[in-house]
Amino acid sequence: LALKHDRANDEVQELAALFALGSLGEEEARDFKRHLEDGCVVCQGEVAQFQKVAVALSFGAPGVIPPENLRDSLMTRIGRRPAVVAIPRPSRSIQVGWALAACFALVSVASILMWRGAQSEVEILQTRLAVASERASQLDQVAAVLRNPGARVITLKGQPEAPASQGSVYWDVNGRRWVVEAVLPPAPSGKVYQLWFVTPEEKRSAGLLRTDTEGRAFNAIQVPGDLGQIQAAAITLEPEGGSAQPTMPIYAVGATE
Ligand SMILES: [Zn+2]
Repeated sequence: LALKHDRANDEVQELAALFALGSLGEEEARDFKRHLEDGCVVCQGEVAQFQKVAVALSFGAPGVIPPENLRDSLMTRIGRRPAVVAIPRPSRSIQVGWALAACFALVSVASILMWRGAQSEVEILQTRLAVASERASQLDQVAAVLRNPGARVITLKGQPEAPASQGSVYWDVNGRRWVVEAVLPPAPSGKVYQLWFVTPEEKRSAGLLRTDTEGRAFNAIQVPGDLGQIQAAAITLEPEGGSAQPTMPIYAVGATE
């Protein structure tokens, strides 16, 4: 056992519960007792708590019966522990057995709740990290464009269809590359935003812009060599898969200067 515990983990709770019920193996009980005497406040606290529960369950709380499914999983778990010995007092064996099961129910429930709490925290942090990494990589791509001499920026402004929309096209003119970021109303299902190169001759698709849950879209696009003089960039909402020609009203547009 660790010299002192700084928190009640699963092992501590199990040991404390079994110890409080006098159900630890002889050697384990001796070790744990020494550990308590060495002054582990966490374990002392756990034992005190479980002793209270054990007493209440054995003598004063006949109505406490662990739910069926918990009892089953507890028994399986107890069965897996070689250190658990038979309950020593036959006259009270049933009560103590229930108390043991109930204590394990508490331990299990507590463990599951703690585990779930930790899991959801980990998930939230992982999501945040993924978003931050992606954002950092996008900013890198924007910076890479802007480092080029002759880089230009096309500012996209929201149109009456979605006035709050906005975006920027970072244009590496010599490298023939567009890095586009935009904030748009999240696209309805079955629809997708599409970006267009606008020249005097044509409106040619520059690719799709997929919005995340916050309506952010990002894309890096190669500018075709055979394209005429680019006059503007425009974003429209199109059916899933995109269109050959823009069919919907324009959501955001910006002219080259
Ligand atoms: Zn301890």
